[in-house]
Amino acid sequence: MSNDLSYLKNNISKIIIPDYVTLIAVSKRKTIEEISYLNSLGIENFGESYLSEAIDKIISLSDKNINWHFIGPIQSNKIKLIAKHFDFVQSVSSEKIIRKLNSACEELDKVMPVLIQINIGEEKQKSGVIISDTQYVVDLVNNSSNLDFKGFMCIPPFGVDPKPYFDKMKKLLDTYNSSYNISILSMGMSLDYTLAIECGSNMVRIGSNLFGSR
Ligand SMILES: *Cc1c(COP(=O)(O)O)cnc(C)c1O
Repeated sequence: MSNDLSYLKNNISKIIIPDYVTLIAVSKRKTIEEISYLNSLGIENFGESYLSEAIDKIISLSDKNINWHFIGPIQSNKIKLIAKHFDFVQSVSSEKIIRKLNSACEELDKVMPVLIQINIGEEKQKSGVIISDTQYVVDLVNNSSNLDFKGFMCIPPFGVDPKPYFDKMKKLLDTYNSSYNISILSMGMSLDYTLAIECGSNMVRIGSNLFGSR
């Protein structure tokens, strides 16, 4: 491999997060070489949102110690593949997806850790559960034998101050954490992860700050 990947080391050194925060390196549109190099530097959690390119990478890197997180919109005809290849699904957002993912995992004899994606800005074009439907969806996930409910994920609206949305998400986690034994709040991307952590995030999904722009 002749590419110089040292910029990745430089980029990592600029991402300062507390120990209790899990870093998800968002590697969509990025190469196997880049992922492999970051993994050699100790990064073990990678996030992908496009299934077909992700599967190629997952298969090529199957000898590595990597947890693969699916973070993109879920198409129901792709659920079996997601269940098979991924270790964690962060973008669970509807009853249909929950039922199909649960039965796909059952067939694979696998228990999948999942986050429920919340459409915190109630944006029409975004997937995710709106706050008023949360209880119903939480119970569906919690009653799915092959899904392990771990917490919530969100992508706040772009171009506006995310703080009010992050605060709402933290309140949501606090509402459910004790009765459902959940603790993960996946929020914060390259532009806003510091603020997200201040607001209670313990899992950040960082793409461009790590890999450079896509
Ligand atoms: C692409 C993506 C990210 C990373 O975004 P950056 O701004 O590049 O850090 C995080 N979460 C999701 C769901 C994404 O699709």
